[in-house]
Amino acid sequence: MTSLPPEGSDPAFDFRPDESCARRLDRADPLAPYRDRFHVPKRADGEPAVYLCGNSLGLQPKAARALVQRELDDWAALGVEAHFKPEAPWYSYHELFRETGARLVGALPGEVVMMNSLTINLHLMMETFYRPTAGRHKVLVEQDAFPSDAYAVASRIERHGFDPKEALVVARPRQGEALIRTEDTEALLEDRGREIALVMMSGVHYLTGQVLDMERIAAAARRQGCVVGFDLAHAAGNVPLRLHDWRIDFAVWCSYKYLNGGPGAVGGCFVHEAHGNNPRLPRLAGWWGNDPDTRFQVRSQAQFVPRQGADGWQVSNPPILAMAPLLASLAIFDEAGMRALRAKSLALTGYLLYLLEQLPGGRFEVITPVAAEARGCQVSIRARRRPRELVAALAAEGVVADFREPDVIRAAPVPLYNTFHDVWRFAQALAGAGSAARG
Ligand SMILES: *Cc1c(COP(=O)(O)O)cnc(C)c1O
Repeated sequence: MTSLPPEGSDPAFDFRPDESCARRLDRADPLAPYRDRFHVPKRADGEPAVYLCGNSLGLQPKAARALVQRELDDWAALGVEAHFKPEAPWYSYHELFRETGARLVGALPGEVVMMNSLTINLHLMMETFYRPTAGRHKVLVEQDAFPSDAYAVASRIERHGFDPKEALVVARPRQGEALIRTEDTEALLEDRGREIALVMMSGVHYLTGQVLDMERIAAAARRQGCVVGFDLAHAAGNVPLRLHDWRIDFAVWCSYKYLNGGPGAVGGCFVHEAHGNNPRLPRLAGWWGNDPDTRFQVRSQAQFVPRQGADGWQVSNPPILAMAPLLASLAIFDEAGMRALRAKSLALTGYLLYLLEQLPGGRFEVITPVAAEARGCQVSIRARRRPRELVAALAAEGVVADFREPDVIRAAPVPLYNTFHDVWRFAQALAGAGSAARG
């Protein structure tokens, strides 16, 4: 039996700088056929673009259209009766994600529900899980958190009558470093944990691409009695997760990035079983979180009876048309499996890092950790010279990558639809554009 490379090490590929190596890697890739299940945008000349923006908006699964069409057809043919009559009744539509959603993030069925969008879910979770007291009201966040998260957290702090300037505890990289060291977050928790009500961090940092050690951070938080939640916007569908075993209290994510659910797709929410079955937890209630057998009852004294599990945090009935594409995408995730996707992802980024090393020194700096366990699909590259001209030159070559001010290019080859040849073309374009932008 051949053994897989140990988790955390680079797959032992024989990378070479020439194009034939990319072709060879693609021929050997067992996941290569999945690319054909997606619509890949084309350049002006009809050639497929080098799409490295799956961390921002995942590509459309070809199966999505028929699933959306089915819902339009059910609506046309059945009207209100489509809530109960069709193959996928709207009344229980969210339950179609019960198993696949749980597998995706390493949860038990019932710990995950697809609902709303990310920031709203963050608010709903903080309503339940951020319960500050005078002595313990602080929130631990990472430096340069995504703006929406920063606004949401600050607004919850203010809602409870505290001042975000005082109440935010920030985990930062050391002077001169770009990444947050796990041991520093642990030390911070050791030191100030008793003031901290909630640890609210990203699983994968959107700018640097760093995968945080969620398990260790959660354990350190728990030792101090802090509640711990993660924003998995850049982690879900990107890296393997074991939210249940890591004893994360709650997590939220969006579905339009690595999960290919389409623009504004319905997001996800994880509530650990330990809380999911506690009907006494306060929450922003609505009829869809109520026991379905009694949710229609009109009572003079409305008695909210939460459903078990994450389902009990639903508020409104789900937007079926916005959920249908996600069904197509999660079926593909299930079929391919996170283990195989992760293996290819590490190979793609390993290859990209290798090709970047071949470029003349000094022009680019990789911010993302090189260690396999600390990187996901995204490689963040700091362009030292004329970054904006560089991005324009890449776009002219049909490379779709993302740029964050002032100088960071984020390239995310994703294992479901990107090829090794995409990575090679990107590196070529970067080399060419880099020297053109030098002048
Ligand atoms: C993409 C992203 C968001 C977006 O929030 P929406 O509510 O889906 O608009 C929020 N936070 C993080 C960390 C993200 O990466």
